[in-house]
Amino acid sequence: MDGATYRVGAVAAVPDLANPIVLARKLLDAGEHAILAGPAAWQFGAEHGIARAPAGALVTERARARLADEIAQRAATGRPASDGGTVGAVARDRAGRFAAATSTGGIVHKRAGRVGDSPIPGAGTWADASCAISATGDGEAILRVALARSIAARLATGMPLGTAVDDSLHELHRITGGSAGVIAIDGATWVARQLSPTMPIAWVDAVGLGDGMGRVV
Ligand code: ASP
Repeated sequence: MDGATYRVGAVAAVPDLANPIVLARKLLDAGEHAILAGPAAWQFGAEHGIARAPAGALVTERARARLADEIAQRAATGRPASDGGTVGAVARDRAGRFAAATSTGGIVHKRAGRVGDSPIPGAGTWADASCAISATGDGEAILRVALARSIAARLATGMPLGTAVDDSLHELHRITGGSAGVIAIDGATWVARQLSPTMPIAWVDAVGLGDGMGRVV
């Protein structure tokens, strides 16, 4: 999502795509539709020189092992193991314009056709004239509270970014019982906060490159 223009490009329910963000960016640039799902996204990709990999070719051994673990855990406990693999990015350029992008394989053992929070503007991804936000975690919970937009709405009241993120994460947990993490940037600062124990992050700022872990709220 491009915060300067409020333009959105998102693709959903598209397995076998190596670089979904590249396709999403083409959709944003085309400006015709905001979100394409399933075969429509593949078709749009084909029209723009982005080919699908052979079915299943991008599924790694690690992913197969996670699926096996998930099935075993659900059989043993009746509850999902809930482990994600989302990559998000937020940016402010020299001119002060914001952008956000989120890419995910979704949750393990999901139904085919499930659309999570990542491609939904205002839920897992948001950018406007004042901030950029990318979320990870329980997609259904993030969707139910429109997590990213709720942070932006708090910011618009003058609340500091860290407080806006913390309050929105606590609200998500209170309403849904779910868990999430967020990276966010505004005109003054950036934050990485999460309800779950770990969320590796990396950044480039005026000082240079850095990496670490987000802060648990
Ligand atoms: N939020 C993603 C989804 O629900 C999963 C994740 O962040 O790991 O699709």
